[in-house]
Amino acid sequence: MTMSADLIELDGSQGEGGGQVLRSALTLSMITGQPFRIANIRANRAKPGLMRQHLVAVQAAASVCGADVPQAAVGARELEFRPGKIRGGSYSFAIGSAGSCTLVLQTLLPALLFADAPSTVTVSGGTHNPKAPPAHFLERSYGRVMARMGADIAIELRRHGFYPAGGGEIVARVQPCAQLRRIALMSPGARRNSYAESLVAGVPSRVAQRELECVAAGMGWSGSQLHERRLAEEEGPGNVLLITLDSEQVTEVFAAFGEKSVRAEEVARLALGDVRRYLASGAAVGEHLADQLLLPMALAGGGSFTLDRVSQHALTNADVIGRFLPVAIRFDAGERHSTCTISAR
Ligand code: ATP
Repeated sequence: MTMSADLIELDGSQGEGGGQVLRSALTLSMITGQPFRIANIRANRAKPGLMRQHLVAVQAAASVCGADVPQAAVGARELEFRPGKIRGGSYSFAIGSAGSCTLVLQTLLPALLFADAPSTVTVSGGTHNPKAPPAHFLERSYGRVMARMGADIAIELRRHGFYPAGGGEIVARVQPCAQLRRIALMSPGARRNSYAESLVAGVPSRVAQRELECVAAGMGWSGSQLHERRLAEEEGPGNVLLITLDSEQVTEVFAAFGEKSVRAEEVARLALGDVRRYLASGAAVGEHLADQLLLPMALAGGGSFTLDRVSQHALTNADVIGRFLPVAIRFDAGERHSTCTISAR
C-alpha cells in the first residue's frame, strides 16, 4: 500500500496529546511508506516525550521496516521516521520496565500483516497495565475482530507482568494478509458466554474472592462464571479483575486493577461500572476497542460499528489516521450510543 512519500508533519500535542498519535503514525508510516515528523510528543502528559514503552515502539517499528531513528531516546520530544520495506521474521523487544507490551504490539501487528513473510514477535514488559489493553483484551477482543477481518494473528501470553515490576512476556505470530475485510459491528448479538476472572500474583486469595463476590452480586452470576486465577508469586505482585462478555458478533473484556490502597470492592465497582455502561448502551463496541478498531478498519478501506462512548482518544486517533489514509471517519450520536462510519474519501 504505497502512497506519495511527502513528509507528514504531526503535532503530538493535538487532541488528547498522548502516545497514540505517535503509535498510529508509526504503524501507518510503515504500511503506506509515507515518512513523518512529529513534534511535541506526548505534550499533554505529566512526563512528556518518549517513555520506555514509546521508545521501544519506535525502535521496534524501525527494525521491522529498516528505518534509522538516531533521535529516539527516552524523553525525546521530536522524531523523524522514514520507513523502508516491512520485513517479516523473528523479532524480540524488551521494554525493560512495566511499559505496556500490548501497546508495542498494537503498533506492529497491523504493519506485519503487510510483510513479505510470517512473523513471530516477542515483547517483554507489562502485560496487564492500567490505561493499556490487558493481554487478555488483545487476544479475545481486538484479536477476534482482527480475525473476522481476515487477519491471522495468534497471541500467546507466556508470563504475566504487572505495574510496576513488569517482567511479563507476550508472543504474537502474524501471517501476512493482502487485504483486510470490511465488517460492520452494529450490535453485539446474542450472548454466548460471560465470566469474571480475578488474577492474583503474590496477593492474598481473599482479594480475588471479594472482587468475585461483588461481581456475583452485581451481575447475578453464579459459581461457574467466577474464576480465581492464582499466578506464580514471582509474576507479581499484581491483581487484575477481568470481566468478559463473549457475544455472537464481538467479545468485550473490561478490566480494573488492584492497587495497594484500593479496596477489592472498589476495584470491582470500577469494572462493573464499565460493564453496565456498555450493556445499557446496546452498542457492539466499548470505548477502548472503539479507538483500536479505527486503524484496521481504515486499512480495510471502510467499516462501521456502534460504540458506547466516543472518547477524546478515538477522535485524536481518527485525525491521525486521516493524515495517512484517504478515509473519512464519522461519529454520529444516537440516543443510547453512537455510530462510527469509516469510508473511502
Ligand atoms: P500516554 O498517553 O501517557 O502516552 P500511552 O501511550 O500509554 O499513554 P494512551 O495514548 O493513553 O497510552 O493509549 C492507551 C490505549 O490503551 C488506548 O488505545 C486505550 O483504548 C487502551 N486502553 C486503556 N485502557 C484499556 C482497557 N482497560 N482495556 C482495553 N484497552 C485499554
